[in-house]
Amino acid sequence: MRTTKLSAGNTIEASCTRCRATLNHTIVAMVGERIVRVECNTCHGVHNYRGPVEKKEKASRQPATKKQVVPRQPKKDPGISDMEEWESLSPTFDCNQATPYDMNGKFRVNELINHSTFGLGIVKNIIPPKKMEVLFQLGKKLLRCQ
Ligand SMILES: [Zn+2]
Repeated sequence: MRTTKLSAGNTIEASCTRCRATLNHTIVAMVGERIVRVECNTCHGVHNYRGPVEKKEKASRQPATKKQVVPRQPKKDPGISDMEEWESLSPTFDCNQATPYDMNGKFRVNELINHSTFGLGIVKNIIPPKKMEVLFQLGKKLLRCQ
């Protein structure tokens, strides 16, 4: 059984920011079982509690909380890199230079187009016959072209 239940007024070891050493401190304030503020017995400075350097005791006292295992995502999925590409390109877009999209139109790679649904897009690839890949804000789309 652990009998050392700390409360305000008790003396504990804590690292003092002013003395830069682990020294005896008097507990000034606690929240629940957590020490919040302490007064240094050496310099009498009141500061937030920082435990002595080794924290093993505190760690072992805490019940092992179930850590939710989050599966690691691959660093970049295609959707994100499309968006990043869009964001790096979009400041260079000039709406006035955009060609209105027309499925019967002819387009070139890197041509800026204006699509009635998807907005501004930049032609990334021409895929014969009659298709092109266009990067829009919401991602790449295949569109018809001539
Ligand atoms: Zn001190």
